Amino acid sequence: MRGLTRYGATRAELEALLGDEPRYRVEQVWDALWRRRVPLADATELPGRLRARLDAALPLALTALVQATSRDEATSKWRWATHDGAQLETVLMRTPRRASVCVSSQAGCAMGCPFCATGQAGFERHLDAAEIVEQVLRAQHATDQRVTNVVYMGMGEPLANYEPVWESVTRLHDDLGLSARRLTVSTVGVVPGMRRLAREALPVTLAVSLHAPDDELRARLVPLNHRYPIAEILDAAADVAGAHGRRVTFEYAGIAGVNDGLDQAEALGRLLSTWPGVGGAHVNLIPLNPTAEYPGRAASPGRLREFARRLQARGVTATVRRTQGRDIDAACGQLTTLAVRPEPGAASTRMGP
Ligand code: SAH
Ligand code: SF4
Repeated sequence: MRGLTRYGATRAELEALLGDEPRYRVEQVWDALWRRRVPLADATELPGRLRARLDAALPLALTALVQATSRDEATSKWRWATHDGAQLETVLMRTPRRASVCVSSQAGCAMGCPFCATGQAGFERHLDAAEIVEQVLRAQHATDQRVTNVVYMGMGEPLANYEPVWESVTRLHDDLGLSARRLTVSTVGVVPGMRRLAREALPVTLAVSLHAPDDELRARLVPLNHRYPIAEILDAAADVAGAHGRRVTFEYAGIAGVNDGLDQAEALGRLLSTWPGVGGAHVNLIPLNPTAEYPGRAASPGRLREFARRLQARGVTATVRRTQGRDIDAACGQLTTLAVRPEPGAASTRMGP
């Protein structure tokens, strides 16, 4: 599709590119880009001539259009443009203990979940592995904290773009040195992709976006449920859990009056308490984040706590997640290819191309 990029080039490709340089230069460049994780311009141990050469031969794949940081500075979001004008977003989430990057796997998404801003905007194109990996490095350049976790929870359905996503996972593991269990792939339930994931050697963590305890409701929230109903998804998730020896997380966006009933909590508890997956099921309850085209409101914090208690009473662990980055539309489900509109008060820096 296009030539080499800075984080798309493999070590072998870098060696070929720098074939006329002293051999140790390859090691120096690789060390700067992937181990020290510094921008090329900051790799001042390299001669200026070599940096200029690399800059021209290995262009970045993403151009920053907008960067915004939340008021509490814990969350930053970037909107990027690709070489062909597709747009995508990346979120960096910091706590005192860790820095995680939430990457997009597609520009847009074809799955059409009505409560999700990405789904509302539709599908633009798949991202390639270099575009996915570069999101992590570019976010890393913005913080002194070492990025240790990557979640495939940005725009797009990772398992609908399997090969590039898996190539990016492999590079984040092999080249950036991230541990497989700190790489989390989130899926809305693409069963064939989950089956493939179970056969991969790298034991990444799986998150499944469930959102409902029964097929009738789930099909309204997640159209793909018509194709892959809950029973099949749970079966495939157990396959992954067994193969990777890792607990699976089930994501549940609490929507007032839609899926937050206590009877629904009981039904979910019944469903997941007998789920045979290794390590049992863990449910992440997220209050629905507002998006432009979905009228639903978030379940109340009190209701979500009670929902979690009902699950726990049936032996299913559950946590109520705090949302981060809502003031800059960087929370779950708020990423979109449509125009960014940071709220007043959110620090926003426009960056040149
Ligand atoms: N397509 C994948 C990964 C990206 S979405 C998936 O759906 O799993 C990342 C997470 O955000 C998913 O769990 C998704 O269900 C959730 N999400 C989407 N819209 C949301 C919203 N408005 N509020 C809260 N969570 C939302
Ligand atoms: Fe796509 Fe996930 Fe959003 Fe559904 S929730 S539209 S699968 S990004």
